[in-house]
Amino acid sequence: MVTNKYLRERADWIIQPCNKCGLTELFDAPSDLMRVVFPDAPPDSVMEVFTASCGACGGVQLVQHKDAQLEEDSIEQQQKKWWQLWE
Ligand SMILES: [Zn+2]
Repeated sequence: MVTNKYLRERADWIIQPCNKCGLTELFDAPSDLMRVVFPDAPPDSVMEVFTASCGACGGVQLVQHKDAQLEEDSIEQQQKKWWQLWE
């Protein structure tokens, strides 16, 4: 069931438990899931966080790169972008 590719990539990601069944594993390698969720993203781009459908029950799993910075810094930057749009 689980490929070497999955195991290799798995170490770089933090998988939040499924909101329905609590599963903390993905059924596909993160890079494969990203290609499904973001079909228009450049091949070499890396998403810091994305959601995946639970392979067991169809619930929602949040998948976060272990190096992702989801701190206030990134929120502030987003807000600046929003304000720039208004100006
Ligand atoms: Zn589930």
